[in-house]
Amino acid sequence: METVWRRFPATRRSRACPGEHQHHGSVGTVLVIEDDRDIRDLVRRYLERAGHAVLSTGSGVEGLSLLARGAPDLVVLDLGLPDLDGLEVLREAGAAGGVPVIVLTARSDVDDRIRGLSLGADDYVTKPFSPTELTLRVGAVLARTAPASSSDGARDSYGGGRLVIDEAMHRAVLDGHDLDLTLTEWGVLTTLSSVPGRPFSRYELVNRVRGYEFAGYERSMDSHVKNLRHKLGPDGVQIVETVVGVGYRLGLRRDQ
Ligand code: CA
Repeated sequence: METVWRRFPATRRSRACPGEHQHHGSVGTVLVIEDDRDIRDLVRRYLERAGHAVLSTGSGVEGLSLLARGAPDLVVLDLGLPDLDGLEVLREAGAAGGVPVIVLTARSDVDDRIRGLSLGADDYVTKPFSPTELTLRVGAVLARTAPASSSDGARDSYGGGRLVIDEAMHRAVLDGHDLDLTLTEWGVLTTLSSVPGRPFSRYELVNRVRGYEFAGYERSMDSHVKNLRHKLGPDGVQIVETVVGVGYRLGLRRDQ
């Protein structure tokens, strides 16, 4: 199986986006796992043109290995792989420190889409897709996940110091334990904590977290909340409260 390995010395954290690349968001190392060679090569070309370093493979097994060895900042993943269920790769990416994943899926695979989102995919692109759009989304997800360059971001605490959210460091800590959230869980928690006690509908959460509407996503929001509560431990249901008929709210007060 062909593997393209192009690692650039600098990481996206320290590399500025010059000139024409500015509108593509952040740049980083992107791992592309797609067994269709034409699509894979096309995606690689576009991503490289936008300034990203690209690792690519057509094999899920090799993809897992590259995920571990290549330390990508983001994965573009085709769910339909010949040697391994793409969802397996998605699970692994979540385990590997929450590397963001953009999933490529056929239009008809709605079930895969829902399952994928509940497993923590950060974005979806349906085939056939525009490589330009995919490239923009890669830049946007990297920009969302990159830590803020300045350290003056607010560090808010809730519930008498129980929950600490550090926007700049992109960290949420409960009772001294790092919550290790996926991008979506982070988005839900920071949205709820932006106005503690105020209920947010699923629709609102989807839009705040993802920045655009996406059919079918509202349903999967419950899965993300379930996973988030699980990470919050025994008090998860009290910290992220259900507001019947509306959605969810943060059950902790913001500390002064
Ligand atoms: Ca495929």
